[in-house]
Amino acid sequence: MTIGVRCGSCDRELLLVQLVQPSQGFRCLFCGFAFAPGYATVAPGVAARAMAAHATLVTALTELQSMTGDRLRLDQATLVGPLANALPAVDAKAEDPAPARRRRAHRRPWDTTHYRRQPTTGTAKEPNGRISAGLGSGVRG
Ligand SMILES: [Zn+2]
Repeated sequence: MTIGVRCGSCDRELLLVQLVQPSQGFRCLFCGFAFAPGYATVAPGVAARAMAAHATLVTALTELQSMTGDRLRLDQATLVGPLANALPAVDAKAEDPAPARRRRAHRRPWDTTHYRRQPTTGTAKEPNGRISAGLGSGVRG
């Protein structure tokens, strides 16, 4: 089972399995682009985890399907949806065979501005005044 990836810099395709050697620094094999700056030591492990989970999922679903046949039909949307949501920047070419898929012209893969903006932010985006006020009261007490 292979998971394909694409370099955000040179746009060439690789396999995730090619990146799981920590000695390689989680970089593009072609152009050397660092895929996870600051996380080069942990990213290969996470990638390996994702591959293992993917294989486990596919194996388990296949097994389940062989037991149930047509008596049980898994809802594909609920299976695939969370995966699609986890990959906001994915090029849907390989995953989504739907003909009506939208394709942005000249979208740069490394452009992350289309990532989901999370409306529910904690204190991270609060004005400094509030944070320091909270900290101050804690220190004083
Ligand atoms: Zn590259």
